[in-house]
Amino acid sequence: MKVFKFGGASVKDAAGVKNVATIIKNYTGGNAVIVVSAMGKTTNALEQIVNLGYAKNDYNEAINQLYKHHQIIVDDLHIHVELSYFIDLIIQQIEGNRYMTYPQYYDQVVSVGELISSSILSAYLSQQNIANTWMDARTLIATDNTWRTGVVNWEKTTQQIAETVTPALQTAHVVTQGFIAGNQQNTTTLGREGSDYTGAIFANILLAEGLWIWKDVPAVLNADPKLYPDAIEIPELTYYEATEITYYGASVIHPKTIHPLEQKSIPLFVKSFINPELPGTVIQTNDKVIDYPPITMEKPNQTLISIIPSKVSFVDDEQMAIIYNVFIKHKLSINIIQKAAQSVSVVVDDNDDVTRIIKDELKLIFSQGEVRSNNNLKLITIRNYIVTKAMKSFANGQTPYLEQVTRKTMQVLL
Ligand code: ASP
Ligand code: MG
Repeated sequence: MKVFKFGGASVKDAAGVKNVATIIKNYTGGNAVIVVSAMGKTTNALEQIVNLGYAKNDYNEAINQLYKHHQIIVDDLHIHVELSYFIDLIIQQIEGNRYMTYPQYYDQVVSVGELISSSILSAYLSQQNIANTWMDARTLIATDNTWRTGVVNWEKTTQQIAETVTPALQTAHVVTQGFIAGNQQNTTTLGREGSDYTGAIFANILLAEGLWIWKDVPAVLNADPKLYPDAIEIPELTYYEATEITYYGASVIHPKTIHPLEQKSIPLFVKSFINPELPGTVIQTNDKVIDYPPITMEKPNQTLISIIPSKVSFVDDEQMAIIYNVFIKHKLSINIIQKAAQSVSVVVDDNDDVTRIIKDELKLIFSQGEVRSNNNLKLITIRNYIVTKAMKSFANGQTPYLEQVTRKTMQVLL
């Protein structure tokens, strides 16, 4: 069996939902698990509603917009979905969960986007006589209570999927939500853009013949076509290469998607929902030598933290360990680290609050030294670079804050 994942862009309007149904009809070749994200920019809209609700500001207009937007799609599809149920659910979550911390509160509200989109898709498939069972991913994907980036409990998830999804697939497709999950009592989420990861979890547990991610690009490209119009398609990637490029900002697939597939040797197909007959990209095996073009990734919103532990001595390994531990303690994962004789440079994703805490802590520890930071930087990574000058041309006259080069990878912080 196959796992298909459809992102928000593929179901942004009624025409999109119809197109998705056609793809399901033509390409599943048997009952499949269909994982769907919230429609269009719904998750962004829900984030705004969360912020308004949490601050006790008026969110009625924002909810009304969300409601109208979905109602138009439901009407255009001539299906019946009780949207007022979901709108009431959002309001209930906003009003009833005020005792929660912000991240927990966020998950309870934002998750409704996927409940709506999957209900609409399921209803439309039924109307088209495509047999399907709607399932609540919160009862299938189990996580701990790390809000907004739930850590999957594989044992429990495997058991839940085996008990319900496997039998359901005997008779129909299973339509479920990406991104959302559950712990004992509450809804959790897997991180923004996490629906790809949901697809990989299902594929892993069900030993699917593949995970198909349907995108608005023809394939994985060697750069973001919005920034680099000359970007070319990459027909095949190893799991290893795909992990490297998604980690450093190739936003085509969520970085967590690859490992669960690699573990069970399940291929990942990145395909176009606009032109489904195009070959797309296949990501599989590490046992193949592939001749890649240079692949350029941009990761915006980076902070550089520069640490001089002491003004009178070299950086030693003990100090490195201390620095590392401060970042581990605050769960801020390091994108790049570079050590010089007297200084250490650490690059992390922008996170104002955490960075301030870390800086204060490091300043206290290294009171003989100095700690500085620069934010709002951009990390450019080029895999399989060929021209060493490439780095200079990306710098475009600017002096990089940091450069790091290995045989395969060149990185510049601007
Ligand atoms: N709807 C969620 C988001 O926009 C998850 C996803 O699209 O994968 O982040
Ligand atoms: Mg999305």
